[in-house]
Amino acid sequence: MANSKKASLREVMHLNNRAFKILYHKYPRLFLSGGLYQSLHALSPYVGIYLSAQLINELAGTRNVERLQTWVLAALCSAAVLAFLEAVLQRWQTYEYNVAREDINSIYAQKMIEMDFSCVVSSKTQEDFSQIRQNANWAGWGFPRIRDFFNSILQSVFSACGAVALTISLFTARIPVQNSFAFLNHPFFAILMLGMMLAAIFLSACCNNRASVYWIQYAQQAKFGNRFFSFFGGLSMDRHRAMDLRMYDQEQVCRSYVRRNKSFTPGSFIARKAKGPMGMLCAVGVMTSVAFTGAIYLFTCIKAWAGAFAVGSVTQYIGAFTKLSGSIGQLFNLVGDLRGNAAFLRTTFDFLDIPHEMYQGSLTVEKRSDCKYEIEFRDVSFRYPGSEVYALRHASMKFRVGERLAIVGRNGSGKTTFVKLLCRLYDPTEGEILLNGINIRKYDYAEYMSIFSIVFQDFKLLAFGLGENVAAKSKYNRMRAESCLRQAGFGERLDALEKGLDTYLYREFDEKGVEISGGEAQKIALARALYKDAPFIILDEPTAALDPIAESEVYTKFNELVGDKTAIYISHRLSSCRFCDTIAVFEEGAIVQRGTHEELVAQPGEYAELWNAQAQYYRKNGE
Ligand code: ADP
Repeated sequence: MANSKKASLREVMHLNNRAFKILYHKYPRLFLSGGLYQSLHALSPYVGIYLSAQLINELAGTRNVERLQTWVLAALCSAAVLAFLEAVLQRWQTYEYNVAREDINSIYAQKMIEMDFSCVVSSKTQEDFSQIRQNANWAGWGFPRIRDFFNSILQSVFSACGAVALTISLFTARIPVQNSFAFLNHPFFAILMLGMMLAAIFLSACCNNRASVYWIQYAQQAKFGNRFFSFFGGLSMDRHRAMDLRMYDQEQVCRSYVRRNKSFTPGSFIARKAKGPMGMLCAVGVMTSVAFTGAIYLFTCIKAWAGAFAVGSVTQYIGAFTKLSGSIGQLFNLVGDLRGNAAFLRTTFDFLDIPHEMYQGSLTVEKRSDCKYEIEFRDVSFRYPGSEVYALRHASMKFRVGERLAIVGRNGSGKTTFVKLLCRLYDPTEGEILLNGINIRKYDYAEYMSIFSIVFQDFKLLAFGLGENVAAKSKYNRMRAESCLRQAGFGERLDALEKGLDTYLYREFDEKGVEISGGEAQKIALARALYKDAPFIILDEPTAALDPIAESEVYTKFNELVGDKTAIYISHRLSSCRFCDTIAVFEEGAIVQRGTHEELVAQPGEYAELWNAQAQYYRKNGE
């Protein structure tokens, strides 16, 4: 959607210029190739116009064979050379354009990576980003238009210069004084023709600009339509939806929505406007241009008839003058397009200008060979952005490397939030988190993150090689990757894979890729965390998708897996937390109990309640 607030001309120029600078800095060759191609493309027709005029003049005049041969040869050679050069430059330009078109998303991707996490997940950011993409897909609005503007400006300016050079003599050539049309020699007529040209251009540009306003107004509806159709278009191709689609015949529901959607039908806003005011404006614009072309034909033909120049020059003047008016008209129209694009660029820059506030620390994290790290939560409270409710309240806790900490509690009690704060996806609303006595905000973010290996509940693997997934790198230590996979319980499955570590996960990029189950994916995610070999390992419900045997394997091997690292283990399966040194019990965002399993189970409270509830369940089923 375009930001429909009307922009001043200054703002229009500022926004487009800013976009141009960003793109020029990133893709200088795109503009170089485009510039060369457009200049040649703009100027080359004049060579033909000029040479044909000379040829006709010679034919209509002395008909000197040698001169005729020279003109013909010049016309043929220049046409061949120019066509060749144009073709070469056009290919170069197309190549650079394709490269840039693919790469332009990296501007947004880079922004997303640098952005504060809270902004990445905010619906406003996601909405802005989807608008930017849709504006580009819909009609190339935003960044993609900048290259078109650049090409148009160059083309128009060069074309206008060439036309002026070939038109000046139309006004300077004089009709003999004895002729009754000699009054056309008066400079007034030159000014009149130029004035008419500018008036026609201005009127036609106004009509076009007015018409383009409707496109901006249509943006909202088109945006929805586009979103809708691209969803529907991809529906049957989405393998994750395939089962539900068949089972519940979901396509029927979608089809009925498609039928009701009027974004692109004859009744849509733009179709109605095209039949009405846009059509009228277009007709007026074209009529004005045609009237002006008629006037220039008349003026030139009368001057030739009255003897101001030879008949061959008529083609030159008419050709050049029409091109002059075309290129100045194009420049005028461009103002309207720039204005239209500014509205879309606002959305682009709203997104690109989202401030990065969180990750500004610069301290390096001391690489301690003794791994002596201590984390402290000091009276930490936290509310998610836009939420009134505290997800964590006055949490205070210390833990050291080597400790096994389990975090337990009911759903929604704040366990995952605790981990998100620890790895700085968010900063606390109140209180502070310290690493070795220093607020974690002060550390360089990448350095700080290097001491954590985390398996989130909703981890994601890439549809690339198994080994690459484990190492999170393309070049990696194969032995280590394999050993981590075995440690995580993926050994047997690995042995069964023909291509071992080189097997692709899923089938997106390799039809021989393997479809893995949720449990297998969880093991790979665990192996990935082990491969990183960071001093802190955090596992958020690491066995939720595992079958009971695999789960018990992970528990039995847990100490071996974790070694001398600090492990923070989040689970609501209390039996799996017994082996931890300390258990912290969360309830409604607060840490309500802390101790060993034996201590906690012996006292009345949340832990005992949860434990008894689960034990009862197991007993019932076990008996
Ligand atoms: P747990 O991991 O213990 O199940 P969470 O830490 O995920 O609980 O959630 C704690 C509370 O914070 C819950 O009330 C949940 O609804 C809320 N919450 C979690 N994520 C968000 C979010 N992104 N925005 C707003 N509230 C959230």
